[in-house]
This record gives sequence, structure tokens and C-alpha cells, in this order.
Amino acid sequence: MVHQNLIGGRNVPASDGAMLDVLSPVDGSLFARIASGTAADVDAAVKAARAAFEGSWGRLTATERGRLLMRLAAAVEARVDELGELESRDNGKPLRQAKADAVALARYFEFYGSAADKLHGEVIPYLNTHFIGVERVPHGVTGHIVPWNYPMQIFGRSVGAALAAGNATVVKPAEDASLTILRVAALAREVGFPDGAVNVVTGLGRTAGAALAGHPGIDFLSFTGSPETGTAVQTAAAQNHVGVTLELGGKSAQVVFDDADLDRALPVLVNAIIQNGGQTCSAGSRLLVQRGIFKDVAAAVSERFRNLRAGRPDAEPDLGPMINQAQQRRVQSYLDRAAGEGLTVAASGSVAQDAPKGGYYVAPTFFAPVAHESILSQEEVFGPVLVATPFEDEAEAIRLANGTPYGLAAGVWSRDGMRSTRVGRAMRVGQVFVNCYGAGGGIELPFGGFGRSGHGREKGFEGLIEFTTTRTIVIAHG
Ligand code: NAD
Repeated sequence: MVHQNLIGGRNVPASDGAMLDVLSPVDGSLFARIASGTAADVDAAVKAARAAFEGSWGRLTATERGRLLMRLAAAVEARVDELGELESRDNGKPLRQAKADAVALARYFEFYGSAADKLHGEVIPYLNTHFIGVERVPHGVTGHIVPWNYPMQIFGRSVGAALAAGNATVVKPAEDASLTILRVAALAREVGFPDGAVNVVTGLGRTAGAALAGHPGIDFLSFTGSPETGTAVQTAAAQNHVGVTLELGGKSAQVVFDDADLDRALPVLVNAIIQNGGQTCSAGSRLLVQRGIFKDVAAAVSERFRNLRAGRPDAEPDLGPMINQAQQRRVQSYLDRAAGEGLTVAASGSVAQDAPKGGYYVAPTFFAPVAHESILSQEEVFGPVLVATPFEDEAEAIRLANGTPYGLAAGVWSRDGMRSTRVGRAMRVGQVFVNCYGAGGGIELPFGGFGRSGHGREKGFEGLIEFTTTRTIVIAHG
């Protein structure tokens, strides 16, 4: 199957006709081709978005934009199976997770569709002789650079919010997972979005992505991906003096106190690193456990890890393959470095025997105990690798949890409400979960990081505000 760019409502090949092969991580087979977008394609997409913003899309009221998003939500909801199957093949995630991503996508459109006409400005009582209003206005044309780990959810949270706010959008999906985004953009046309409101240019980061990040016609950028690329995107955006939200990686801690409800915690602690094969920016990749229960928790987590299986996505394994061979090698290289450091493997899962040989599978691995300073405690692996480190008391727990350059999410497990609240509020992260981790996709909850995890917020009402700016109007009336 061959997929083209979507520019100004038309499916068009790359300006130079170049294509990229799409390999399925399930078995390494070639199953589709996408356009390898060029700077000229990005330029055409930005122009199409500008024409929509200044034309038919820009003329719609907030209520009309909201209705279109609600229609898109319904169209996605009706195609959860189709989208889930496509994502599972393209990205390798277990089918149930892929379908859950499609459900979350529909919920993002529903949330932002219903919010579109509820974002109001304010009136400032300044002088009795003047009326002063502050209106919330869209930036104009927004660029969205999306990674491969949750293509649908990240498209939903950033493009959904941008459209609700009235922006016209240009999207650059990850080269390894573009297909569901192209499908959803086509659905947007089908449900009545004007041509040019949603444009998609597929292709490589260093060409299509860089062209979008540096395009002078872009008024605001949303980037999700690695910290290194985030720096490049922000540097490019700075040349045009435009704002950027950066959603980067994480090394999120799960802090387990000795009074925690372990029956409740254990399955969540394991799932927090295994979901999506650990390829989740907010994965709970560090387990900090109070010394008195460290051995017991490590033993219980080990038992669960030994039973974990990586396998083909349609068999509903605990985890599917990694996204590509580079990611598979990246995880392996971390395991090799850990062995070089002499870290102790507490337990490993396995790759299912029927996992296709050409796929990018890795066995989940649990290391315990691991020093806080070790590579595996400090660097984001983005794979199914969990480390556990003991701590003595509350102060040390806080110091270790905040002791990486990242700051995306944290979990706190304790039956003592005052302690868990105190520790939760000491976390330098964008989201803290107490006696739980994750909240059904968290569509309504502001999400984002501190430090190397990025800045700006997406999701929730906060995410909608990010895609607007203000215009203050001062009217003298005597
Ligand atoms: P990446 O940052 O290279 O890619 C993310 C997106 O940016 C893709 O669409 C890519 O095409 C684009 N891109 C790449 N180079 C670009 C450039 N110079 N200018 C503009 N856009 C560019 O991430 P990756 O290679 O897909 O993954 C590498 C690592 O990034 C992972 O191992 C993980 O640590 C991290 N990551 C984090 C998240 C997250 O949600 N926080 C998601 C994916 C990857």
C-alpha cells in the first residue's frame, strides 16, 4: 500500500517522488510505503494551512469547530478496530493497547470539541472611561512533530487542541508510524473539515521535520520526542521567534514506602514499565523502595518479570516488539553497558517461541539493587528495563526521585495520607500519582515536564490554552 502526503485536502506525492519503506516491527516485513516529504512539501503544506486559516477554516465559529471535532470523535470511535489493527501492524503494540489508543484519540477530539467554545477571555476593570477586553486567539498555523510511540494519542492531544483553538495545522508524523495519522487526517476531511485545516507531510526527521521546525510560516510548534531533537527543534523555532511546547522523555520514579498496599501496587508497578514495551515517556522506569521491604518487593517484582512474554501483538502478549531495529539495539546496548557496570539482573522475562524471527523483540529485564548513580538509573532506555534502588527515609526518597535531569511523572505508594501528600508535593514533575499510576490516558489532565523532560503543557484545558495567545483591546468610550 502506498500513502501520499495530505496537503490542502489532496493526496500528493513528495515533490521529488521519493518514498520510504514501512517495515512492520512484528516480523520486519515491508508492508507499506510512505512519501518521503521534502522542504518543498512542507512549504506547500504551510501555505495550504495559511490559506485555510485566512479562509474557510478561519471563518468558522468556535462552536462550529467544536462540532466538527465531535464528528471526528464519532468517526474515530466507529473505527476503533480498524485503527487499532493498523497501528498494531505499523507500530507493533499489542492490539488491545492499539485499540485503547484509538479510544483515547476519540476522547481527545470529544474533550477539545466540547471545550472549543468554552475558552473565554476576560474583561479588566481598569478605567471607568475605557472598556478593556482580553480575547483568546489562535496562534495561526501550528506545526506538530509527532513520535512513534503513541501516534494517535499524541496527534489527538496536540492537533485536537490546536484545531479547537482555531489554528490550521501541519503535522509531521514519525517515519516509523505515520499510517494511523494519515488515516485520521483523511477522516477529518470526510467529516467536513475544510481543506488545509489538517495537513500531513510524512518523511524523515532531518528533512521534513527540520523543514517544519524552521519554516518561517509556522506560528507555534508542538514537539514530542527525544531531548536531543527537542533542542534542534527549539533552536530552529527560535530563528523565527515562535513558541514551542516540548514533551521529551523521562526517568520517572515509583516511590514505595514500607506501609504501602503491595497487593495493589505490584501489578501497577510492573505495568508502568511494561506498557507499550517501555516505550512510554512517562514509563515508571525506576523503583525506589524503602529498605525494610526492599527484598520482598524485589522478589515479588522478579516473580512477575519471569512470567512476562514479548510476542506478536495479535496474541495479546505482555509486550510487543520494539518499534524498529535501532530501538531494539539501543535497548540491548543498555543491557550490555549494565553488564559492563556489573549490575545485578534480578529477573528476566522471555520472548515467546512463536514470535516471528524478523521482529524486533526484547525480553524484559529487572535489575536490583541498582545504585542511583548508575547509567540505568539516570538515562532513559525507552524499553522494558526496570531498576530498583533502596532508600532509608522520606528525605532520601525525595532526593533520589528528583535526582535525574528529567522531571515528567512520579508515583508515591503509602497508606499514610499525610506522608504521601507531602512527598507527592515535593516531586519536581508535571504529574504525580498517589497509590495509582496513570489515569486512563489522562485526557483531561495537564501533562508535561520539568528540566530535560521539556516545557509547556499538553492535555486538558491547559493544553488548549497553549494553542492560543491573547489580544488585549482597549476601547476609550468617555
Ligand atoms: P526523535 O526525537 O528523533 O523523533 C521524534 C520526531 O521528531 C519524529 O517525527 C522525527 O521524524 C522528528 N525529527 C527527528 N529529527 C528531527 C529534526 N532534526 N528536526 C525536526 N524533527 C525531527 O525520537 P526517535 O528517534 O523517534 O526516538 C529516540 C528517543 O527519543 C527514544 O529512544 C526516546 O528516548 C525518545 N522518545 C521520547 C518520546 C516521548 O514521548 N517523550 C517519544 C518518542 C521517543
